[in-house]
Amino acid sequence: MQISDVSLRRSFTSRGDATIEATVKVGSIEATVTAPAGASTGEYEALHLPSGGYDSVLKSFKKGMLLGIDPLNFKDVSDALKKMDGTSNFSQIGGSTSFAISVASAVAGARASNMQFFETFHLKHQMPFPIGNVLGGGKHAGPGSPDIQEFLSCPVGAKSVFEAVSANIAVHHEVLKQIEKRDPTFAGGKGDEGAWAANIKDEDAIELVRSSIDAVSKQLGIRIIMGLDLAASTFYQNGVYNYSRKGKKLTSEEQLGYVENIIKKYDLKYIEDPFDEEDFEMFSRLTKSVNVMVIGDDIFVTDTKRLRKGISMRAGNGVILKVNQVGTLYDAELFAEEAEGAGFMVIASHRSGDTCDPYLAHIAVGVGAVLMKSGVVGGERISKLMELSKINDDNPQIALWRPII
Ligand code: PEP
Ligand code: MG
Repeated sequence: MQISDVSLRRSFTSRGDATIEATVKVGSIEATVTAPAGASTGEYEALHLPSGGYDSVLKSFKKGMLLGIDPLNFKDVSDALKKMDGTSNFSQIGGSTSFAISVASAVAGARASNMQFFETFHLKHQMPFPIGNVLGGGKHAGPGSPDIQEFLSCPVGAKSVFEAVSANIAVHHEVLKQIEKRDPTFAGGKGDEGAWAANIKDEDAIELVRSSIDAVSKQLGIRIIMGLDLAASTFYQNGVYNYSRKGKKLTSEEQLGYVENIIKKYDLKYIEDPFDEEDFEMFSRLTKSVNVMVIGDDIFVTDTKRLRKGISMRAGNGVILKVNQVGTLYDAELFAEEAEGAGFMVIASHRSGDTCDPYLAHIAVGVGAVLMKSGVVGGERISKLMELSKINDDNPQIALWRPII
């Protein structure tokens, strides 16, 4: 089985960012994949698009280097893309081009082999729970919204992915009700990922989401845990955490105390990027002092070298895996393998600017993720959630993660 053709087209993400769509052919079978794009990007991520955009991509794109490769050989496809690009961060062909070709190759290869895409991964499969943001702020919403980027809900007591997705939607609806009660003039705005974008302070927002989750959990009789993605690198400026929207500045030491305090006060079980992406030390101190999921996104950027440093320092106990941060499925799978080998949990994640492609669900199951972070509502989020639900229904032999928190 060989890649027989590859073509690129211009496209857009759900936020309207320019991106790349790739179609890979394997004989008469083909697959088309469009790359997502982040807004709160880590310093060390692959570059989404070169400054010259699509035209510049086309100048560096050499289709011939991919023809003849086995589309299911993640490494050979990755090596060819890296050779074609020639830089360390895909700054010539763009991480978007690399992502789209890498995923489309595997999807086409799976179709040509009558396999499901998730079956083409080499790690132990697992069914993750969906985790989604119901209220948002930071770089995903406007200036009146919280500094904290994501207020997350995850129904770990659900018996199936469908039940979990339904519970998260119920929380999303309940959050709207509670926002409207506080602010009858709320116009129903949403951020980039479909979470409500309300004019509310961080702690009031935590309290509101806590009470919404508790109400839905009680009503449905399902355990639902709450989490936050602070995306703290986005507001770490000149050595302080600058909660500018609320006029509060915290030193690193104060930030640690603040995060420990809200974890305890609001019974948070999941904390993502509570510190700047360079502050491995604080990640390590928090991980030692609390018994919750401490997850690194911008700090690791799906990069195995950065992860090794994090493992040696116990800087967290879980990682976000975003294939487009590193550029290829091969490198993302190595990252997951390294994480799982060290007992770190893997959370497969969407991007704030995403597409209606469902493939994240297969990546999540394929790498044995414990959670799939992909929002709650919106076409580009529902496509992944319903694909995960379908994989769950069709494959009862793949067990749902058993939460350890
Ligand atoms: C995140 O920070 O987890 C996220 C999904 O945001 P973005 O895609 O903007 O990096
Ligand atoms: Mg994040």
